[in-house]
Amino acid sequence: MIVPPPLSKVNLKDFDPNDNGNMERDAAEAAVDQLRDELSVLQEKLYASNEKSLLLVFQAMDAGGKDGTIKKVLSGINPQGVHVTSFKAPTSEELAHDFLWRIHAHTPAKGYISVFNRNHYEDVLVVRVDKLAPELVWRERYDHINNFEKFLYDSGTRILKFYLHIDKDEQKERFQKRLDDPEKHWKFDIADMRKREQWDEYMKAYEDMLSKCNTEYAPWHIVPANRKWYRNLVVMQAIVETMRDMDLHYPEPQTGLDKVVIPD
Ligand code: AMP
Ligand code: MG
Repeated sequence: MIVPPPLSKVNLKDFDPNDNGNMERDAAEAAVDQLRDELSVLQEKLYASNEKSLLLVFQAMDAGGKDGTIKKVLSGINPQGVHVTSFKAPTSEELAHDFLWRIHAHTPAKGYISVFNRNHYEDVLVVRVDKLAPELVWRERYDHINNFEKFLYDSGTRILKFYLHIDKDEQKERFQKRLDDPEKHWKFDIADMRKREQWDEYMKAYEDMLSKCNTEYAPWHIVPANRKWYRNLVVMQAIVETMRDMDLHYPEPQTGLDKVVIPD
């Protein structure tokens, strides 16, 4: 089960980060390549018809694979129709507004796909664990987020949310690889060590987020993410299935195209 029933209580211990769907790596990679071709056509129809939009939300612990998934799954589609936003710690201007202000500014226009690498859920994750706001404030945010996402949905935006689920051992291995490889040092952030120490608190915050904000109009996908190739397939499948369901068509051509003679 990758999408739990809406608003059910999620216990992350029930989700195995090592799950590989009983697949071999080669088969999964071949399936991703095939789906990428279909995704490319679907995205072109989304862009050409200019009526609906798609929002892809990625969240994970550090080294959980957000960047890698975005790179792998979205490579090969027309960059003109996609915007990727990475949300960092808010600036003073952003903090002077409500927490959804900076998020809303990056939601997709008609015809576009927007990708959020981190997102408004940081405001019930790091903000909760690091006590950056009082409990009374972050507790209300689950409702605010659900209402916001319903509003986007009602406005023509399909929303898919992916939590990339790795375990603590896998994170350690990935951190170690970053330390061992000079070309990966840029990805190593000493501040991430503190977040690792807060692992259990984060898991509690993630479980609440996945329980309270998993709705029919904006489902959370809990993606087994220890194996990158299976993670990519799960995310790719969810995106393609959703876009197939969006009933996308090229717009009607101008009348009289059959009579057009291209001048010399
Ligand atoms: P990275 O994605 O590795 O570039 O790191 C971005 C950092 O920004 C992470 O440590 C996030 O937890 C932090 N961040 C993102 N959004 C927020 C937020 N709303 N409040 C506080 N920190 C945030
Ligand atoms: Mg980082």
